[in-house]
Amino acid sequence: MSKTDWISQELDGLKQAGLYNRIRTIGSPQGAWLVVDGKKVLNFCSNNYLGLANHPALVAAAQNAAAEMGVGPAAVRSIAGTTSLHLELEKRLAAFKGVEAAITFQSGFTANLATLPALVGKEDVIFSDRLNHASIIDGCRLSGAKIIAYEHNDPQSLEEQIRANLSQFRRGLVVTDGVFSMDGDIAPLPDIYEVTQKYDLLLMVDDAHGEGVLGAGGRGIVDHFGLHGKVDVEVGTMSKAFGVVGGVVAGKAVIIEWLRQRGRPFLFSSAVTAPDAAACLAALDLLEDSTQLVDQLWANARTFKAEMQKLGFNTGASQTPITPVMLGEAPLAQQFSRELFEAGVFAMALGFPTVPQGKARIRVMISAAHSPADLEQGLEAFRTVGKKLGVI
Ligand SMILES: *Cc1c(COP(=O)(O)O)cnc(C)c1O
Repeated sequence: MSKTDWISQELDGLKQAGLYNRIRTIGSPQGAWLVVDGKKVLNFCSNNYLGLANHPALVAAAQNAAAEMGVGPAAVRSIAGTTSLHLELEKRLAAFKGVEAAITFQSGFTANLATLPALVGKEDVIFSDRLNHASIIDGCRLSGAKIIAYEHNDPQSLEEQIRANLSQFRRGLVVTDGVFSMDGDIAPLPDIYEVTQKYDLLLMVDDAHGEGVLGAGGRGIVDHFGLHGKVDVEVGTMSKAFGVVGGVVAGKAVIIEWLRQRGRPFLFSSAVTAPDAAACLAALDLLEDSTQLVDQLWANARTFKAEMQKLGFNTGASQTPITPVMLGEAPLAQQFSRELFEAGVFAMALGFPTVPQGKARIRVMISAAHSPADLEQGLEAFRTVGKKLGVI
């Protein structure tokens, strides 16, 4: 017996259960089509909602920034790694979101890891939606606060948990995803806000899948619901609709100032590079210039979803361009994904533990980059595979 045998056994177990994650290799820029493992396929997998990941304006901005500023930050931001580009990006993001201030991080994941432990500690309580993203869960754990899950998208369950528990703690915070990435449903933020108001709790929303998607010109879930000034902390990412990489926390100036002092990934890990920051600024320029890409995204999503439903697929509870195709057991979802790939469509199967047991699915990510012919081709592949596997 070697001391790593248990790992081999666990890995074999995953393979037998159809839960082993086989990661494919991309050999092209992100776009409506990708070269995956050497094969050209229609891309239904990426979070590249607006097609910005390989947009000429972003690429040019990154190239110029690399030429002017080089490629590495060479220090954490609090020592020698903050450039005028980082500060400009934060100012522009705050203006875009209509908040007092913003701070950027390496990723949305680290934004959550920074924010939750800065705002609550072991005398405190976090009320967290049961289906929140892994980075929220990890941030909650890292904070040392008591974590109490409330039922998914259920403000009444939230209030019950608050009533039953809040008095035993110093302070409380409520945290929810804005758009839930596995189902594409939207948090009922106005109702959640009312509850947080009633009990004077901090409200934090992770809008990773809402930015560039929801609200006027992609300003996110707070704009979508007209809740400006009411949500204390908005976490976001520049790796999805923005097409680049990086995380952001936007909100009240005092909270952002505190994160510059106490956000550990800000203090102890280097920031995104100057080319990243410049590309994010170029993405903001595009979003502020025109709503065309956001409008195209929604038009594509509506078309695709309606046609999938006509074919007889169950697209779950999605209210956004995220389109889950519910299949049940993980092995079926994996087989479906493999057959789609053979048919020239790249769409990932998601199984436990990414989604609950028995709720395996293919998740289709629609993008503004898809042409009508792309959508048509994707639908045809779903029809063929769905019939072959007896799903429709
Ligand atoms: C994708 C995602 C993240 C992580 O964002 P990265 O920038 O890729 O680290 C965080 N929260 C939610 C809700 C997400 O969907």
